[in-house]
Amino acid sequence: MLHFDDTEAAFEYQSKKDLRKAYLLFSLLKYPILVQLGSFITIAAFKLGLPVKGLVKSTIFRQFCGGESIQESESRINQLAKYRVGTILDYSVEGKENEGDFENTKEEIVKTIIKAAENNHIPFSVFKVTGLGPSSIIKKVNNKYALSEEEKEVVSKIRHRVNHICNMAYQNNVSVFIDAEDSWFQDFIDELALDMIMKYNKKAPIVYNTIQLYRHDRLNYMIDLIDTCRKSDVYLGLKLVRGAYMEKEREQAEIQGYRDPIHATKEDTDKDYNLAIDHCLSNLDKLYLCAGTHNEFSSSYLAQKMSENGIENSDPRICFAQLLGMSDHISFNLSKNGYHTAKYVPYGPIKEVLPYLIRRAKENTSVAGQTGRELTLIKKEIKRRKSGKIS
Ligand SMILES: Cc1cc2nc3c(=O)[nH]c(=O)nc-3n(C[C@H](O)[C@H](O)[C@H](O)COP(=O)(O)OP(=O)(O)OC[C@H]3O[C@@H](n4cnc5c(N)ncnc54)[C@H](O)[C@@H]3O)c2cc1C
Repeated sequence: MLHFDDTEAAFEYQSKKDLRKAYLLFSLLKYPILVQLGSFITIAAFKLGLPVKGLVKSTIFRQFCGGESIQESESRINQLAKYRVGTILDYSVEGKENEGDFENTKEEIVKTIIKAAENNHIPFSVFKVTGLGPSSIIKKVNNKYALSEEEKEVVSKIRHRVNHICNMAYQNNVSVFIDAEDSWFQDFIDELALDMIMKYNKKAPIVYNTIQLYRHDRLNYMIDLIDTCRKSDVYLGLKLVRGAYMEKEREQAEIQGYRDPIHATKEDTDKDYNLAIDHCLSNLDKLYLCAGTHNEFSSSYLAQKMSENGIENSDPRICFAQLLGMSDHISFNLSKNGYHTAKYVPYGPIKEVLPYLIRRAKENTSVAGQTGRELTLIKKEIKRRKSGKIS
């Protein structure tokens, strides 16, 4: 099986100073109380107009984001490309609630598509449906509540924005991921994604939907989706993830008194993730797959299954993806072995991507073992370089 313990390959792109900075950052992220306090103080400081931007930019922003704009992310794109790791530009501005902002987000995503069309190192674009319309209305339409005429108009605008983005992806021959979100938005997202797949995936997998395997209903949903696409003779693109909103999902299910949509245990999620990989691999005649994961076992499992099925490492139908600033040992060892690998590279004005950064910080305290693993690997590489075994 593929191993990810080559820290030289994992961190070759980082200078000694960068590594030390990353080490310090992950050491701090280990403490939930610091993350909690730091998030609170940073939000307050931005609100009060205090000069914290420089500090945020040179620390956590630098670790997890490409830049404040596409142009500013260019050096990161080139740096990753040097090691054959692709970039997926992720416009990470969140929490907008007015029509002007939704239009701006749409235009910005179109810019990422145009950028991808002209740069071989950007294999995909990505967007979130909740970035294109008010969450309150998306939730309402998702739950099939009656809508006022005004609300219907808002929904129609969301559909148009999604269609515009997918059409631009189609025109430019760039594949685009539709991210998966909270379950109270996901039926609507799935419905839009299927419409787009039927419309734009006749000749190639332009539109990818995302499957969250932490949900107990998603493996069956995925199997049915593959069948539906096969019957309609369209290509299907799928991004497989475990799912990012577990705590919120469990909390809402408890408060509202419905069945928790998330698997009871991590083992059940892991099992479904790997079963989803198996099922996708047996449908590769019409399916393209991206494994969006930091899980070492799932990544090496996919690599192993590819080999057992006689699929070349560089097969264009399969891609691995991780988030910038996390699990470099997986990304860079995969790319070194010839697998298609890419990083989500979030970007946007610092103040606007703050919610994303805070989520990353919290994830790195809450995901069991994640911070410990990053620290151990960075420490190992610093030690290796100190011992003189460096090029
Ligand atoms: C490139 C990329 C794209 C992504 N896109 C999306 C997206 O569109 N939508 C989205 O929701 N997330 C997305 N994510 C985040 C992803 O869903 C996970 O939150 C994150 O990657 C951690 O899971 P993992 O597979 O890396 O591995 P691990 O660290 O092994 O797994 C952690 C995950 O397992 C699950 N889990 C943990 N404990 C339990 C438990 N007790 N019971 C049941 N399940 C449990 C949770 O999903 C948790 O996040 C993306 C991640 C990447 C790398």
